[in-house]
Amino acid sequence: MRIVLVGPPGAGKGTQATRLAEKLRIPHISTGDLFRANISRQTELGKLAKSYMDAGNLVPDEVTIAMAKDRMEQSDAEGGFLLDGFPRNVSQAGALDELLQTEGIKLDAVLDLEAPEDEVVKRIAGRRVCRKDSAHVFHVTYSPPKQEGVCDVCGGELYQRDDDSESTVRTRLEVYHTQTEPIIDYYRAQGLVVTISAMGPVDEVTARALEALSGK
Ligand code: AMP
Repeated sequence: MRIVLVGPPGAGKGTQATRLAEKLRIPHISTGDLFRANISRQTELGKLAKSYMDAGNLVPDEVTIAMAKDRMEQSDAEGGFLLDGFPRNVSQAGALDELLQTEGIKLDAVLDLEAPEDEVVKRIAGRRVCRKDSAHVFHVTYSPPKQEGVCDVCGGELYQRDDDSESTVRTRLEVYHTQTEPIIDYYRAQGLVVTISAMGPVDEVTARALEALSGK
């Protein structure tokens, strides 16, 4: 399957994407993770991306699209993929359509994760991510690690993402409403959108998502 995951920051896209990709046996492609990997390797792309990310803004389309295209063209993505955080505006959605058209392939579904604003703010404020593997995500109140600051899964150090600070979160939410939400209508016109609630226990949301995707 070829799936795009959308939803506001803090809706649980990363958590659900990891689980869904595993169940569906397709690679999880997160542009946010790709940028963070570039930042930790201190590449030119990482240096450029960091200034936009720290402010809560989108990294320019040109570099983002090139990076996403490069990743989607790797051999493990031939049979399908789950895109998490890409596309993030209508121009990126257009670029993705062009790429898919060139390859003669189509998206199967756009999964829209819905969560109320006060809830996503709470989730982001308490979010702690593992430095070794960003798929290992905890929350100081909702899913605390056994030992503070240490990842239960691999023992890595838990940290708060630079862009999870309160002021940056407000910008990210605004960017989501003004730039990303319009892609939901763009894909709705193509009959691809399935919307589910992102509220409730992680397992329940995953089950809801798989159920919604089974109709696609
Ligand atoms: P995420 O991990 O998806 O929350 O992304 C973190 C940050 O990376 C975003 O706030 C943006 O600054 C940047 N980013 C991730 N994906 C994109 C994208 N498709 N277009 C532009 N910027 C992006």
